[in-house]
Amino acid sequence: MARIVMKFGGTSMAGTERIRRVANLVRRHQAAGHEVAVVVSAMAGETDRLVNFCREANPLYDPAEYDVVVASGEQVTAGLLALTLQALGCKARSWLGWQIPIHTDNAHAKARIGEIDADELIASMQAGEIAVIPGFQGIGDDGRVATLGRGGSDTSAVAIAAAVGADRCDIYTDVDGVYTTDPRIVAKARKLKAVTFEEMLELASVGSKVLQTRSVSLAMKEGVRVQVLSSFVDDDAPLADELPGTLIVSDEELEGIEMESQLITGIAADKNEAKVILTRVPDRPGAVASIFGPLAAANINVDMIIQNVGREKGETDVTFTVPSADLVRTQALLEEHKETIGFNRIITDAKVAKISIVGVGMRSHAGIAATMFKAMADRGINIQAISTSEIKVSVLIDEDETELAVRILHTAYELDDASGAA
Ligand code: ASP
Ligand code: MG
Repeated sequence: MARIVMKFGGTSMAGTERIRRVANLVRRHQAAGHEVAVVVSAMAGETDRLVNFCREANPLYDPAEYDVVVASGEQVTAGLLALTLQALGCKARSWLGWQIPIHTDNAHAKARIGEIDADELIASMQAGEIAVIPGFQGIGDDGRVATLGRGGSDTSAVAIAAAVGADRCDIYTDVDGVYTTDPRIVAKARKLKAVTFEEMLELASVGSKVLQTRSVSLAMKEGVRVQVLSSFVDDDAPLADELPGTLIVSDEELEGIEMESQLITGIAADKNEAKVILTRVPDRPGAVASIFGPLAAANINVDMIIQNVGREKGETDVTFTVPSADLVRTQALLEEHKETIGFNRIITDAKVAKISIVGVGMRSHAGIAATMFKAMADRGINIQAISTSEIKVSVLIDEDETELAVRILHTAYELDDASGAA
């Protein structure tokens, strides 16, 4: 017997028929002897619809009232799932954020979870009742409903799993796990049996959107074992205990799972980056600080940075990337500080993509980056910038070459599925 949290995303909850499938899956897991809490998302598309209503009502909407509106999507699915479970003969009840309670701060529309008092919840689970919890929300210090930011139900599930001391947090979605890369780009992408928290964080932050990034950091901090798996399975499919999906675990646990250790775990592509070049920046102390200070103050996330070796006359070019959505603001800020920074020209390019290879295997193996550079050179792909961390190498390339780059790297690191299934 185990205590598990099962989380269902919007596509799994979209409509009566799908909620019935979910209820069946939950019932089967409880029948196997588990104590079960379920965290649900709103029906697919519902949160977007509610956000639009807020915009129409008042473009300068008050975040606290926005929360009142958008939190309703999950309240509906939680109640419906409890009703459906009862119809199947299960004991079930819903628990709204304030009833548990899930305490958050007062940053409405992007609140962070603080403390969760799970005593009552645990008692009810122990008594054989299935707890159904709307994701994405809690109660702020101000006593009002607060939502956690888009995609926040993943974080709700992990936080509940930590609070009730769950053996596992199973996140059900419309894909059956985490892949070596996007299967829409590479047909031979393989599903991974397991990845570490750190790898998942790198893969999530570079564009593979399976889980909200914050949920992964929370799972890492609290040591919650997470499994990503599909809810679109037959009624006699294996239970989640048999680990049909991808496990996200600590380094130590991964070592016990992975038989053949792969050098690279996954490859991610991110087209939402833009490149900025400042020419003829004075090559003196403080120059770089004068560029990135104002960007940091404006909350613009700078990613890759290259400062070229100084040319003659004590000048240098500085190249960096920002999210494409912040490019216009970045340009405006730099123009505003042109005097202080002392550059000559701004050159921008939004048609770039960041390709990243990720894997804990990098820590113990040399030459991993060299393989990447060589594979790209062989196909004539030009690398415009490079950045590295302990378990990641990223390169910036022309956006048009994204798919080609991902494919050749997938092959170069021997990640292609050899089973011939694809
Ligand atoms: N329904 C919310 C959203 O669409 C939260 C979630 O599903 O995770 O962002
Ligand atoms: Mg989601």
